[in-house]
Formats: sequence, structure tokens, C-alpha cells
Amino acid sequence: MTRTTDRSHDPNRRSWVASAHDHPTFPIQNLPWGVAEMPHGPALVIAIGDDALVVPQALNAGWGGELPQALQAALRAPTLNALMARPAAEWTVVRLALSDALSDPTQADRLVSSLRPQAECRMQLPMRVGDYTDFYASVHHATNVGSMFRPDNPLLPNYKWVPIGYHGRASSIVVDGTPIRRPRGQTRAPDADAPSVGPSRSLDHELELGLVIGGANPLGESVPAGSAHERLFGVVLLNDWSARDLQAWEYQPLGPFLAKNFGSTISPWVVTADALRPFQVPMPARPEGDPAPLPYLQVPDDATWNLELSVHLQTAAMAARGDAPWQVSRTAFAGAMYWSPLQLITHHASNGCDLRPGDLLGTGTISGPTPESRGCLLERTWRGAEPLTLPDGTQRRFLEDGDTLTLSGQAVASGAVTIGFGVCRGTIVGA
Ligand code: CA
Repeated sequence: MTRTTDRSHDPNRRSWVASAHDHPTFPIQNLPWGVAEMPHGPALVIAIGDDALVVPQALNAGWGGELPQALQAALRAPTLNALMARPAAEWTVVRLALSDALSDPTQADRLVSSLRPQAECRMQLPMRVGDYTDFYASVHHATNVGSMFRPDNPLLPNYKWVPIGYHGRASSIVVDGTPIRRPRGQTRAPDADAPSVGPSRSLDHELELGLVIGGANPLGESVPAGSAHERLFGVVLLNDWSARDLQAWEYQPLGPFLAKNFGSTISPWVVTADALRPFQVPMPARPEGDPAPLPYLQVPDDATWNLELSVHLQTAAMAARGDAPWQVSRTAFAGAMYWSPLQLITHHASNGCDLRPGDLLGTGTISGPTPESRGCLLERTWRGAEPLTLPDGTQRRFLEDGDTLTLSGQAVASGAVTIGFGVCRGTIVGA
């Protein structure tokens, strides 16, 4: 990954947008992209403090006239796909142009009318997701789940050689706040002779990151490890809702299907790979005795990010009483992963599979080494055997109707201004 920082990351840079000062999520060092519904249709927006800068309006006001014409056209598109299709160097150019304008007090008069309070913005899916793939890259998650089903042999022999993944479904990816209907499906109780059909009784969340692809490689051409960084536009939070009872009955021999494709929620703001540069850290060393990645998976200067991710639960009763959401788990991303973001991209295209702008690559559930850092209820309650007790005394094995699940995350590093992903929420509604 590109490790150098530039003036857009300068911790001393301040915006004339007052709410951006010391903003825990959207200081001027972040500048994530989203799409908001505007009176004339969807428009690209940038988060700055509590506001959103409507980018086509900023162009109309005279900002960005020096940018290449094709780039300006991409900034007027109704989704981020056109910007993601531009070369990676242009993503950096437009970030610098936005950072410069939002930190230059002489630009305030020109741009202030292009700001909208985020609270008034109806956020859309930021990009059209053509294809969605989900990986299994957290070794703690893979080990925990494997040990529930295969106590003697939790990690299958391929795990340390090949990043495991499957093709998911793009049509059911929804944006933060979209209600999630409890799926119905076929399950078989352990003591039953035959399966039955009904609402899932073990509905779960999965804490993941979604890697958002930029650029394109033609079908038949791979992405060399050394250029994978040019294909990573940014990152969102991803909740891969999962119906464990459906999954247990259907997954063999071809893998997840209806247990996974009834809804996957992403956060509305795409935090760019550029914004995450100050938070890069080397991938953790592989344990002694593990194989080195095969040469095609050896990414030069490979890195991950110092991210603190958390999951909160608020039941309907808690919401009615005004009780704050309860922290289900908290996980450090960097130490949780066996495969890096760039290894996932490289591997996905290694057979000539064409990755296209707006494609979404889930990391898989992100779990750390401790119980409190497990990224789904299947692990957190050990398949329901160890229910969680909420502050009001009620218990949860899996999600119930009316529960609201919130993913959130921050990037943290000494010497850098903390930036955040915002939130990724969903409330369960009855089947
Ligand atoms: Ca998943």
C-alpha cells in the first residue's frame, strides 16, 4: 500500500466548517464519499464535520475547474462507480482538491451554500454493487467456528494457503438503517427426521469490513500483488446477516446460500484508502511453522490498518426505555486477520476474474482472540450455549425481532487525527 502521507493528512489542518474541529468521525483528515438523495436526484457528497458537501453543487459554484473533464463528469454521476472507474491517482487528486478548499477560509463564501446538514441527508447505497464476494480471512473466526463443528480439526488444511471465499448476492445489499426482515427457510432440528419450514430461530450478525473495488482488469488478466493497491478505492462497514439454522442444514457441499442472501448492510460513507494511509501497520507475522504465502500472494510492503471495531445491541425494550445500546463486542482489526486486504484482491483476480468498479469484497467475520472480541453471536454465545446477559437482565442467544444492531469503527494511530466510519445499523422485523 502507499504509505506516504500528504498535506490532506496533516494533523494541524483545520476546516472552516466549524463542526469538523475535533470531530470524532469526520474531521477534515477523513473526507469519506457518499451518495445522498437531493431534489434533482442522487448526488455525490463528502462528509465534513456534521455536514455533507454536495459535490456537483460545489462544481457549479466554481470549485474543481482545474480537474480533468472526465473526472469532473464522474463527480456529477448519481453513484460513485464513475469515480471508482477513474485511475487511482485521480482519487488522490480530487481528495487534495477537496481538502485544500475545505481548509482555505477564502473558499468558505463560495462553498458554504453547497453544505447540507448530514441529519437532513437521506443517504443511498454509495455505489451500484455489481458483484459481492465474502471471504473468511480472520483466523480467530475460522478457528472458533471450525472448533464448534470439528473439535479435532478446526482449521482445514487449505486455510493457511488459500484465502477462502464464496460469491455472495449483490441485489440484497442495503444501506445503513434499512430494516432486515427475519428470513424464513428450511431447517432440520438435530432430533428431527425431516426438515421443516419457518422463520429462522438463530439470526445472527457478522462484523466485517467491505473492500470497495476501483478500476477494472479485463477478464482473463490477473492483478499482480504489486499493483493491488491501485484497485482498492475504500472501505465500508459490512454486516453480513446470517441465519445459522438455515446455514447448518443447507451449506454442504456448496457453501452459504439462502442463509446469507436475505440482506447485507453497509455503512453509507466510503472511507478512502487514501484517508487510511496514516493508520497502516504491517501484517502480523505468521506463527512459526506456518507456510509462507505462495509467491503470487506476496504483496510488497503489505499492510493492514489499525482499526477499532465495535458492535452494539439495543433491544426494543431498551429503546422504549431510552437505554443506551449495549456493547456486544470490540475487536482490533489488525491483529485479527490472517490475509491482508490486498491479498484478498490479488487472490480474487489471480485466475483472471475481472473485478469491476463498485465490486464489494467482504473480509469475513472479524474476530479477535478473546471472547469479548468475537464478531458474531454464533461465537460470542458459543452456538447459544453461553447466552449473553444484557443490563436489564434479559438474555440473547441470537437476535430477536425489534433488536437493533449497530456496527461502528474508528481508525487510530499516534500522531494522526482519529477518523471514523460512521455507523452501520439494522433493526430486525418479524418474518
Ligand atoms: Ca460473512
